[in-house]
Formats: sequence, structure tokens, C-alpha cells
Amino acid sequence: MKLQEIRAQLAECGRQMSAAGLSTGTSGNLSVYDPQECLMAITPSGLDYFSITPADIVVTDLEAHVVEGERKPSSEWALHTQLYRRHPAARAVVHTHSVYCTTLAVLGQPLRAVHYAIAAAGAAEVPCAPYCLFGTEALAREAVEACGEGRAVLLGNHGLVAWGESLPGAYGLARDLEFVAELQWRAMAVGTPNVLTKDQMDAAMNRFQTYGQSEKRADEPQTP
Ligand code: 13P
Ligand code: ZN
Repeated sequence: MKLQEIRAQLAECGRQMSAAGLSTGTSGNLSVYDPQECLMAITPSGLDYFSITPADIVVTDLEAHVVEGERKPSSEWALHTQLYRRHPAARAVVHTHSVYCTTLAVLGQPLRAVHYAIAAAGAAEVPCAPYCLFGTEALAREAVEACGEGRAVLLGNHGLVAWGESLPGAYGLARDLEFVAELQWRAMAVGTPNVLTKDQMDAAMNRFQTYGQSEKRADEPQTP
């Protein structure tokens, strides 16, 4: 794990997350996982993202034993570690309280295929896990179960969590799902959204395989 680089990336991504309005204050958290060393670098608990420096990032094992760093790791460490255990391809996890995703999570409603951009989540729907107290194993368990094979899940009355094969990938997915959630909410406010069919979504997911500059789908979801 190139720690210095990863610490800097996490601190920068946290600032980006706050600046983009995907989280406010100390809400949300980010991590990067190194499967070779079985170590996770995670943001510290309860610090404002605009004040976090690379030195504040905490390195832990998958039981949250601190290996490096002076800070207490994010209270949602179990949510992050459970996702890494369940999804061997996962290298980064991003948790936000972004407003539109959280609005749907308050309604207990999944994110639906109101726009093909949802394909980046690896599924035609992003489910909503039942409400659980923040920072608990129960929350982690329910989230991972509801997430299934997908890359993202809404946390009931709480927010969103997304994983990716890189930090830009997980962050980009959280940002794109906030776009879809806003569309869904806006459409619901004035009518009944048209939800894309399974065939339409299968075609969109297929199209993503070759979208962009690479024949193979880049991990960072890119929406035309
Ligand atoms: P931390 O500050 O401990 O990361 O918690 C923020 C949060 O979003 C809890 O769900
Ligand atoms: Zn949270």
C-alpha cells in the first residue's frame, strides 16, 4: 500500500465530496483497501472534510485494529470492511448523506432506472436497506445483504454507500447515483416517472462495456 499517496487521495476526495455537496460537515466516509496486505485506509471519525489532512487518515486491518495513524477510524468501519469481504473486486468504498439519495432512503424506496446512468451501479435498481443505528455491525450486515451483487445500496433514513474498483470509481458512482436520485425525486414530485424496462437496462449495461476510450469498461463510470 503506497500509504502517502493513498492518504493524500482520501483527504482530497473527502474535500471533493464536501465541495460537491455530497456530504456536509463530518457526514460520510471513504476508504481504500489493499487486498495484498489486508489493510484499509479510512477517513477519521467526526472530522470536517475541509480540515482533514493526509496525516489524519487511519490504516486498519479488517477488524479495525489501528495499524497506523493517531486518529479514531470512521464509526462506519464495519460497513466498509463488510463490503470488502463480500466483494473481492472492491478497492474503495464511499458513504455519503447526499440529499436526494437520502430523501429516497427516508421514503424507504429504491433508486429506479429512471435514467440509464443507474447502470453504473451494476444493477437496474439500487435497493434500500432497513434503518439501523449508524456505526453498528447491524447496519453493515443489512447494507451488505440488501446490496447483493450490486455496487451500491441506500441505507434506510441515512444515506448511500457505493463501492468501486478504485477511489475515483466509487466516488463517481456515488455522484452519478445522486444525479439519478434527484431525477427520480423531481419526476415523482410532478408525476409518475417512466422506469426503463429490463431489456432497455440490459442494453444500456451492455453499451457501457465499450463506452469511452477503452474497449473494456473503465471502472470509473462515465456517462455520455
Ligand atoms: P464518521 O464521522 O464516524 O465517519 O461518521 C459519519 C457518518 O456518516 C456516520 O454514518
Ligand atoms: Zn452516515
